[in-house]
Amino acid sequence: MSVFEDKISNPMIEKLCIVLLNIDDFKNVNEMYDRDFGDNIIKTLAQSIQSILPDNAELYKLDGDEMGILVDNVEENEILTLYDQIQNMIIHLQLWRKYGLNITISAGCVIYPKHGDTVKELYKCASYSLQYAKEHGKNRLVFFSQEILKNKMYSLEMMRDLKASINDDFRGFSLRFQPQVDTQSHKMIGVEVLLRWTNDKYKAISPLEFIPILEENDMINIVGAWVLRMALRTFRKWIDNYPFFKVSVNVSAVQILEDTFIKDIVKIIDDENFPYQNLVLELTESHTVQNLSILQSKFKALQDLGIYIAMDDFGTGYANLCYLNELDLDVIKIDKTFIKAIKEAEQHIPMLESITHLSGLLGLRTVAEGVENDYQQQWLGKNNVDYLQGYQFLPPVTFNDFI
Ligand code: C2E
Ligand code: CA
Ligand code: CA
Repeated sequence: MSVFEDKISNPMIEKLCIVLLNIDDFKNVNEMYDRDFGDNIIKTLAQSIQSILPDNAELYKLDGDEMGILVDNVEENEILTLYDQIQNMIIHLQLWRKYGLNITISAGCVIYPKHGDTVKELYKCASYSLQYAKEHGKNRLVFFSQEILKNKMYSLEMMRDLKASINDDFRGFSLRFQPQVDTQSHKMIGVEVLLRWTNDKYKAISPLEFIPILEENDMINIVGAWVLRMALRTFRKWIDNYPFFKVSVNVSAVQILEDTFIKDIVKIIDDENFPYQNLVLELTESHTVQNLSILQSKFKALQDLGIYIAMDDFGTGYANLCYLNELDLDVIKIDKTFIKAIKEAEQHIPMLESITHLSGLLGLRTVAEGVENDYQQQWLGKNNVDYLQGYQFLPPVTFNDFI
């Protein structure tokens, strides 16, 4: 960025703002259409942004779908206004409307000299801010701050520690098991396998925190494979005694979209000599997948082998009706937030009733997660939910406790 050097050596410029822009979930656009189409989107977007920039701003094309705007002598509120204008312009662009695309853009922003004085330093801070914007809901602009830096350092450190654990033969990783029971007979019909990671430095860190780090840093595949192998190994003998018993393992969409996913899974199952029909794969974190047809073809291949497919966290975010329409599922796991809504005072819980009604019509099995009390258990029994899981029966425990 020699432009940048020129600008800061210009005595007329006291303050300079760098805005990094990046299209949200752009991967999906390339996946859904093709690269030419993606390039076309970037070009259209760049031209449109260019056309609304004020005189003190310039647009630069950076790597891939990243763009940078340099704005001279500007206040933060002017940057916010500019970003608003860009968002508005995007909403009204005809090109994506025609294709039914919902394009949004995230931005990270730093100010010279407030946040640093070298290009390298400023670019790094801007990209941390951009990443923060992406991780906090996308479609937003985030200014650099010390909190963002702290956040980034924490997750970088955790990433290194996770890597070290993996390389040290998965030291610190372990599995917990939570039973699933039949709503009517109260018999245990299966188990969900949940990953844990402990490290001296962090106290009881939740998978909700470390799994996204694994996903973002290409580590989820290797850890996911380990989870599956250990889960199957743990329950191999158990299945001989209880042939109806199902082992549910979480897989994130990032794993499924990997080219070798099916091959890898089959190898693990065959190595462990585990019956396919006793395995359920629960699809989690699927909100980044727009291309449901790829998922569908992978699901089909898995189901042809005898493996069952469950949609996790059903009813939240993107794990919703679209999925029922486009994917052949076997099981839906009703998200805990709906189960929480079952309270003594309320006889009718319209959302939950609709979900159970719909899954009945579609012939899907339902599992309620997060069942915590008798009242919820009874309500779910009366409303034809097939299986229950939650602290009401057992929290996730070690295999010894599970037995
Ligand atoms: P999930 O798949 O929705 O798992 C259910 C979560 O609910 C678990 O949290 C479980 O401990 C918790 N839970 C169980 N019963 C109750 C209850 O009665 N009340 C409440 N409030 N919570 C209950 P956990 O173990 O912290 O896992 C969090 C998430 O991390 C999982 O959510 C799943 O999305 C992800 N995860 C866990 N293990 C794996 C894994 O091996 N692979 C992948 N990709 N994701 C995993
Ligand atoms: Ca799950
Ligand atoms: Ca869930």
